[in-house]
Amino acid sequence: MGKLDGKVALISGAARGMGEAEARYFVEQGARVIVGDVLEGEGQVVAKDLGNASRYCHLDVTSEVGWRAAVDMAISEFGRLDILVNNAGILRLAPIASTSIDEYMSVINVNQVGVFLGMRAVIPTMTTNKSGSIINISSIDGLVGMAGSVAYVASKFAVRGMTKVAALELGSLGIRVNSIHPGGVDTPMVHMEGFDPASLDQMMSQMVPLGRIGQPIEIARLAAFLASDESSYCTGSEFVADGGMTAGFGIPGAQQ
Ligand code: NAD
Repeated sequence: MGKLDGKVALISGAARGMGEAEARYFVEQGARVIVGDVLEGEGQVVAKDLGNASRYCHLDVTSEVGWRAAVDMAISEFGRLDILVNNAGILRLAPIASTSIDEYMSVINVNQVGVFLGMRAVIPTMTTNKSGSIINISSIDGLVGMAGSVAYVASKFAVRGMTKVAALELGSLGIRVNSIHPGGVDTPMVHMEGFDPASLDQMMSQMVPLGRIGQPIEIARLAAFLASDESSYCTGSEFVADGGMTAGFGIPGAQQ
């Protein structure tokens, strides 16, 4: 028996990275999944790989019409919608002084407005079902600052706040809403052009108490817990999976 047997999930940004890992693990746990993404080719491959338990939907999270179509697809193909994972996101690195308003807004539109539109799109059907689980992927950058990513940090703090508003508004309707705050995770997002994998490993070994970067499956397992009935008393909460990175700081020479 899987922990998501009979449930239907819509996952944004599921063509690769963490969203792909979530789609694959959710299906392994008995769910059927709509793979939503703007990456048509990669998204189709993931959905095809998952066979009858999955469909690809072209979903740009900044589009209200796109969200409506994705929710409609979940209901027409699989009969219901129980889980939304607001996972799609983009990262742009630049100091505040050289961030243009267009660059700033492009990140806010995907990471922040996208999450708002996603939550709003699933509320009617989850309200009818009197149940649902919404999982918003924020970041440790929604808990602490990170130099060089003003729009990203702003958007991830917003996701954390919106999660709490939604939990307060939707709890009495049987809909739970939680946020996940990953630390560094080994996905295409962290393998940006010009970023050397060896220096990334070295950086993570120095900055993370567990001494390594996270793997997408480690976030997928947490998302599955929040999507499942095992987390039935959790709502409005922040779930950190960062290898201990935000636990505090060490004093040189005081570690084991
Ligand atoms: P990724 O770049 O590998 O995957 C992101 C996915 O989102 C891609 O498939 C991309 O096509 C999709 N996407 C981008 N814009 C979209 C849009 N407008 N509409 C629909 N889909 C869109 O990144 P990832 O690391 O897998 O990131 C997943 C989530 O986790 C993001 O919200 C990210 O901010 C967050 N996160 C990542 C890390 C990390 O270290 N990788 C850490 C903390 C949080």
